[in-house]
Amino acid sequence: MSTDAADAFRARTERCRNRLREVGAEALVCFPGRNLQYLTGFAKDPGERHLFLFVPADGDPVLLVPALYEAQVRTETWVEDVRVWGDGDDPLAATRAAIEDLELSDGGRLLVDDRMWARFTQDLRAACPGAEFGLASEALGPLRRRKDARELDALRRAGAVADRALERVRERGAAVVGDTERDLARRIERLLTEAGGESLAFDVIVGSGPNGAMPHHAHGDREIGPGDPVVLDFGARVDGYPSDQTRTVVFEGDPPAAFERVHEAVREAQAAAVAAVEPGVTAAAVDRAAREVIEAAGYGDEFVHRTGHGVGLDVHEEPYIVADNDRTLEPGMVFSVEPGVYLPGEFGVRIEDLVAVTEDGAERLNHTDRGWHP
Ligand code: ZN
Ligand code: ZN
Repeated sequence: MSTDAADAFRARTERCRNRLREVGAEALVCFPGRNLQYLTGFAKDPGERHLFLFVPADGDPVLLVPALYEAQVRTETWVEDVRVWGDGDDPLAATRAAIEDLELSDGGRLLVDDRMWARFTQDLRAACPGAEFGLASEALGPLRRRKDARELDALRRAGAVADRALERVRERGAAVVGDTERDLARRIERLLTEAGGESLAFDVIVGSGPNGAMPHHAHGDREIGPGDPVVLDFGARVDGYPSDQTRTVVFEGDPPAAFERVHEAVREAQAAAVAAVEPGVTAAAVDRAAREVIEAAGYGDEFVHRTGHGVGLDVHEEPYIVADNDRTLEPGMVFSVEPGVYLPGEFGVRIEDLVAVTEDGAERLNHTDRGWHP
């Protein structure tokens, strides 16, 4: 790991320790997933072997890992205290030994990863019978909501990858007609890779005609016809961070009668919500700004979801841009602004960009044409 990266992860861990002291917790225990990645840089899917990161409120972090990951965590993380157990050893004994060393066994509060598998939480409970358990988000939530410079840089680059792929899809124009949604989704996956995406942020959404009226329809066998509005929603990860943007395009021919009006309302709603973003404003107010425009156009009941979601290592995370969220926006928060109108059996329209809250407004992370012509 580079010195720069190590410094950034060390600084996050230091902030995490401060938070642990603020909330009166002895330690944080992470399991493979986004929290572990956030603090150490080690990106690994959850697995059946005991792998924990212990971050004590006072003291250095400890990684307990199965032997087959030892070399990897020594090169891919900055954590120096790595303890190893081998297949054939008792992982519970290794866990207990680490906990005793850190003096966590006899009480106090322990914050465990919100997504830790129950069997591992049970093992921690057995090893710390006197401890009170809480969730890691109590300490990490406020940190992960505000992106640091390194995270913002990755999110910008991920946005640029999605933008480039989208431009190349639109360049195909009428040639898209006759493709199935799946054909187009496969093409988008290739374009994202060519543009520098490391992996898909989520299953590519190509919702053509009536399929576009189902907000989370992924893609199917339907053939894209002339005049079909097509909802294109996709993103790729760069340095672990995802992009997520949506355009609704008619590749050839005349769209359905109501389409232009709906598209214009959604586009105006999206612009109004982005314009509402600044520090101190509530998430609810941003949602309201989008909803007012769509209600005025007569489609309030067809805007069936929240206006947006936070984006970081997780594609969906805090802050949620939704009517009942009174959380105020702070510089460094990154979220989607994605109003949509869905007319069942006919078509859907959604326009989405990611925005970062700046000191005095918002920075868009997506910059391509928001219109419906290819
Ligand atoms: Zn999306
Ligand atoms: Zn989204």
